Amino acid sequence: AKAAGRNRYQFYSQGMAERSNERLSMEQGLRRAIEEEQLLVYYQPQVDLADGRIFGVEALVRWNHPELGMIPPVRFIPIAEESGVIDSLGRWVLERACRDILGLSESLGQQLGLAVNVSAREFTREDFVVTVRDTLARTGFPPACLELEITESTLQVIEQSVEILGALKAIGISISIDDFGTGYSSLSVLRDLPIDRIKIDRSFVQYLPEKPDGIAIVEAIVAIATSMHMEIIVEGIERPEQAAILFRLGCGAGQGYLFSRPVPHAALVHLLTQG
Ligand code: C2E
Ligand code: CA
Ligand code: CA
Ligand code: CA
Repeated sequence: AKAAGRNRYQFYSQGMAERSNERLSMEQGLRRAIEEEQLLVYYQPQVDLADGRIFGVEALVRWNHPELGMIPPVRFIPIAEESGVIDSLGRWVLERACRDILGLSESLGQQLGLAVNVSAREFTREDFVVTVRDTLARTGFPPACLELEITESTLQVIEQSVEILGALKAIGISISIDDFGTGYSSLSVLRDLPIDRIKIDRSFVQYLPEKPDGIAIVEAIVAIATSMHMEIIVEGIERPEQAAILFRLGCGAGQGYLFSRPVPHAALVHLLTQG
């Protein structure tokens, strides 16, 4: 039994060492990825549920690794956050997306909205607001068309949220709460912070219409948002029935595979200019 215990211990520590090696090489790879332009920004359309019109996009980063191929963000964003690489990654995504979407908007003759994800670590950096302001100035992207997506947990943990959000609002940027309903924050976040939009998490939508459990929650969120003059967007809409139900419940906007998967810039241009 003793031998077995020791083996088990060795097994664990070896597994842990492998994992931390993998992390380390991924961290180094990520730093290189930014320099060597292996990162890509994909765009997922955001649509008006009343008529299906695309009014904006969410920027979602991808890593096209030279050996491993396309790596999804769930595999590298946590490592980027822990190692601090997220700071330069986030700056790169914001700048790339502002340039792509401004260029596309100019050729369409209509300014598209742009939503960019911000992680807790970026949000709390002392120079975050200045970085965002400088990027907007450098690229010429209109601040009123930029929305930063921040999760409930980020806003809840950080005491200075009120000040940071205030400074971002002063630049003219919009703020949305991502993954709304999945955290444990109280509704006071909505009362105390200058939030423009709530993104209802996919988990309340994915089992509709067969399992209508999510409906009561969506109804409650819509009621609160309406009374607090906030907009709503629902993520993860995959089926027409889901879009119809959500629209009936008062959700004005949506995002999901039903309308489009996240696509590379060229495909987005095609999607928006073909007709
Ligand atoms: P998120 O911000 O909640 O983004 C939504 C995720 O749901 C995206 O996954 C998107 O591709 C996926 N999705 C969209 N529509 C549907 C649908 O109809 N069905 C299903 N099953 N999924 C859908 P993705 O692109 O893999 O991104 C995962 C997460 O990585 C994001 O979750 C976000 O938290 C993070 N992330 C992505 N890009 C960035 C970035 O540039 N910066 C930061 N800080 N985080 C990012
Ligand atoms: Ca998001
Ligand atoms: Ca989300
Ligand atoms: Ca999510």
